[in-house]
Amino acid sequence: MEKSVSIEKLIEYLSYFSKMYDRVRLVDPLEKKVLYYSGEELRKEVIPCYAFWNKSVFCDNCVSIRSYRENQSYIKLENSLDRIYMLTTIPVDNSDRPVVVECMKDVTDSMFIAEEGKLSETLHSTICQLNDLVIKDSLTGLYNRRYVEDRLPVDILRSKTKSYPLTLIFLDIDGFKDFNDKHGHLTGDHVLRSVGEAIRSNIRLNTDWASRYGGDEFLICLNRVDYEEGCHIAERIRSAVERIALSGTDIRVTASLGVLTVSDLDMTAEEMIKNVDEKLYIAKDQGRNRIVGEKMV
Ligand code: GH3
Ligand code: MG
Repeated sequence: MEKSVSIEKLIEYLSYFSKMYDRVRLVDPLEKKVLYYSGEELRKEVIPCYAFWNKSVFCDNCVSIRSYRENQSYIKLENSLDRIYMLTTIPVDNSDRPVVVECMKDVTDSMFIAEEGKLSETLHSTICQLNDLVIKDSLTGLYNRRYVEDRLPVDILRSKTKSYPLTLIFLDIDGFKDFNDKHGHLTGDHVLRSVGEAIRSNIRLNTDWASRYGGDEFLICLNRVDYEEGCHIAERIRSAVERIALSGTDIRVTASLGVLTVSDLDMTAEEMIKNVDEKLYIAKDQGRNRIVGEKMV
């Protein structure tokens, strides 16, 4: 078995990268914190990795968590105030804790993109849009499955270390194949967008998030939400879907939902999704347009 490398040893190796990049640091992608910053001693206080990007919450398109999960290097462009950085992430698969090497190169001037020392608005928004494309579903504007895979493990870890409950809701539209056959794919797309809206308008913007997991399936994650509150939100969404009205028609859709709340449990993201999916299928079995849930504490 390969011997694990300590953070101290990794810091020694970093001197190679430091010559090529403007900033090099070691980041724990699950806890979102900086373990080491080139040129600076290990600090006692915790620096969140997103502080460098002048953000108060972690980046949606976090390539470090992706590097860590897929054990592969990634590159992306990111804005920090009026500078553009090329970020390269390299996973360290034999470290004694989750760690990714982040190498930043200031490419603002080398890309000939600054206007009178100021980053053009268009470029700034293009970079934001590019980063958004990777993690958003273009039809509904909700997050996509890739985002779920990056984000859910982080929220599970947070809920465990901070001892608060986490609730997942899995929603699937009822009889959507037949709906498409009967009313056409475009009307189907309209329904998907409306379901996305019904979900978005019933969750908190900052702490919760929702995704189109695939086809007509939606996964919603509610942080610091217990089972009773989770079921209440699921019911609000179920009833909002039932009320979706396609203008000038009496066409209606319904959805079935699975709810799972965990608290202080060692469950992986995959296990949680599998479990809430099972609840959803019980709801389908019991006749659809209903909620089936479970609290695991
Ligand atoms: P059930 O009640 O068991 O869920 O029945 P169902 O017909 O909804 O079965 P299922 O969830 O397996 O069907 C998913 C359907 O979603 C199949 C496909 O036609 C439709 N679908 C998937 N993606 C899209 C899309 O982007 N647009 C549209 N209009 N339809 C889609
Ligand atoms: Mg369905």
